[in-house]
Amino acid sequence: MSAIGENIDAYCLKCKLVLAHVIMFKAGSAVSKVKCNTCGAEHKYRPEKPATKKTAVSRPPTLKESIAKRAAAARVEANNAPMQWDLRNRSMDRASAVKDYSIHSQYRAKDVVNHHVFGLGFVERIVSDKSMDVLFSDSVKLMAMNISS
Ligand SMILES: [Zn+2]
Repeated sequence: MSAIGENIDAYCLKCKLVLAHVIMFKAGSAVSKVKCNTCGAEHKYRPEKPATKKTAVSRPPTLKESIAKRAAAARVEANNAPMQWDLRNRSMDRASAVKDYSIHSQYRAKDVVNHHVFGLGFVERIVSDKSMDVLFSDSVKLMAMNISS
């Protein structure tokens, strides 16, 4: 369980990325307020990027359908994560270097990273020059990388 003053990954609305934050307040056992280590903004804790608000008029149904499909696919992927991770972990080359995860470092697909909260992760896909999909033991997470401070 994360405690106040410890780091946690949260979505920063300013940086528009999932980044390391320091926990400022907790409501019961739930993290309530965090401070972004990158831009210093203090805000409500969001584990992931919030879903974009639905605009009823402008969206044709085909796009809605494709979004629903993508969401369903993402759910399947997330559900498969523990099994996929286990497979990767077993077949992993023990000689390969495990890199400690840092938002400042740059990674490539197939890199193996060690995250201070999520543990061992396998870089599945480079999403942009500043983000990547990483397969952790519980789910695939979009992680920030190559962020200069
Ligand atoms: Zn920020």
